[in-house]
Amino acid sequence: MKSFTYERATDAESAVAAVSKDGAKFISGGTNLLDLMKLDIEQPSHLVDISRLPLGDIEELPDGGLRIGAQAANSVVAADAWVRTRYPVLSEALVSGASGQLRNKASTGGNLLQRTRCPYFYDTTAGCNKRDPGSGCSAIGGFNRTHAVLGAGDSCIATHPSDMAVALTALDAEIELLDADRSVRRVAIDDFYRLPGDTPHIETVLRPGEMITAVVLPSPPPGRQRYRKVRDRASYEFALVSVAAVVSTDQGRIDEARVAFGGVAPKPWRSAEAEAALTCRPATMDTYRSAAEAAMRDAVGRGHNDFKIELARRTLCRTLAEVAGAS
Ligand code: SF4
Repeated sequence: MKSFTYERATDAESAVAAVSKDGAKFISGGTNLLDLMKLDIEQPSHLVDISRLPLGDIEELPDGGLRIGAQAANSVVAADAWVRTRYPVLSEALVSGASGQLRNKASTGGNLLQRTRCPYFYDTTAGCNKRDPGSGCSAIGGFNRTHAVLGAGDSCIATHPSDMAVALTALDAEIELLDADRSVRRVAIDDFYRLPGDTPHIETVLRPGEMITAVVLPSPPPGRQRYRKVRDRASYEFALVSVAAVVSTDQGRIDEARVAFGGVAPKPWRSAEAEAALTCRPATMDTYRSAAEAAMRDAVGRGHNDFKIELARRTLCRTLAEVAGAS
């Protein structure tokens, strides 16, 4: 590991000022960054510790929404009474991620910014455009069982690892950001993440020095919510496929549906195609199968991960049957 200097920020404004130095990075829970530093994949020269900033509150908003401070631990958010009762899909997604110890340490902001778990990204002897732009992608033509089937390109086929971000995508969350000039902006989570294109090393629209201060949820959508995660073992494992679904029905017909997938794309994958195939249709297995076909219409397997396409279809059908019923 390269040597680095360290300081603990005392307020948000001084934190964004401190991180404007060359080679500086924020650190909060450190559950991903420290591993990356030990492997010399991340080599910050200065760390600005933001874990003690007063950004851990979870507050109800006047419009019925919720503001989750960026330093709220994943375990705290998952257990919050408002989250559990009004946004259960978020609580379920959080509890399905990592381990108890990691959820106690990992922050909301850090969860959003965790890096892919593509094994070649962590193997510094392998070509990887995300770690070392221009060095190629070892996963294309390599062992790509866990990789993306939607939204990927010829430069990178890695998946986004977060469960939380998939639920937030189905809930239309916004990310609140503080810039070094102290300006605040909000970005819809679907716009926050970038697809790889020719620059897979640039994963979000964060500007240099910007800090995530909160996640803002609009008032809860109508209907039932569910997060279903399929993985190789029952805990402490990333998703092969996951589905966040929010569906409201009336007398056996679907009024409104929101569907987001995890484990299949470089970002949490909101499926407008599935939603269109569900809206104003009867809540039946035939409808769910049509939605699943629509969701995976553009999916491309790379060999080892071909199974994910059918797995995603089946996971969506099963999740929809749970939240909307099936006849
Ligand atoms: Fe690197 Fe992306 Fe290819 Fe994995 S899939 S080796 S992260 S470029």
